[in-house]
Amino acid sequence: MKTIGLLGGMSWQSTIEYYRILNEEVASRLGGLHSAKIVMYSVDFDGIAEMQRRGDWMTAGRVLAEAAQGLERAGADMVLICANTMHIVADAVQQAVRIPLVHLADVTAARVKRAGLTRVGLLGTRYTMEKDFLKDRLASHGLTVHVPEAEDREEVHRIIYEDLCRGIITEESRRRVKDVAERLAARGAEGILLGCTELPLLIRPGDLSVPEFDTTRIHAETAVEMALCE
Ligand code: GLU
Repeated sequence: MKTIGLLGGMSWQSTIEYYRILNEEVASRLGGLHSAKIVMYSVDFDGIAEMQRRGDWMTAGRVLAEAAQGLERAGADMVLICANTMHIVADAVQQAVRIPLVHLADVTAARVKRAGLTRVGLLGTRYTMEKDFLKDRLASHGLTVHVPEAEDREEVHRIIYEDLCRGIITEESRRRVKDVAERLAARGAEGILLGCTELPLLIRPGDLSVPEFDTTRIHAETAVEMALCE
């Protein structure tokens, strides 16, 4: 079994989910007492969030690149950035190590296409919905990506940082995010990408009128497939 390297803590609320899904997947595929081989570098998110607000992606990229080198030295065979947003520095991370970076947009696009869909709505942080790094990567796989209107983007962004990253899950935020997703579906989205690794804490399978794609689960499941493939 290969060792999975995690760049976590962004936020730790979703890193817990990665850890749980990786172990559950390995256990269900191999049985017995099997569990995932994992090394993790979990950052102090406050500093990273501050760099995001300042738009200092260069420093953030350097921090994650050095962390990824630490994972490689510790024996990781692959590296996962456990967040959609920080894929904005995916190239810097990949260039710093010899092990492969499992890019969240690539594995998500593959899953969407396997489901036979091409038009998707993207929910995530303001950076993810407004900048091109994730949308372009999804589009390079043939997907058409819709994002919410400005007011809805603000609301989803606020819920992610003020609630979900702090472990606060409320019915009110669930209703609000569902409403945003349904407006994207009404505009033609055939599926909704939960393009923030905390969003699956709020939106559960079957909550929406169209299929949802849980990027945390898809990313983690793909890592297990890679870890178990000789
Ligand atoms: N985990 C989040 C994501 O998937 C948001 C927090 C962050 O900015 O890293 O984008």
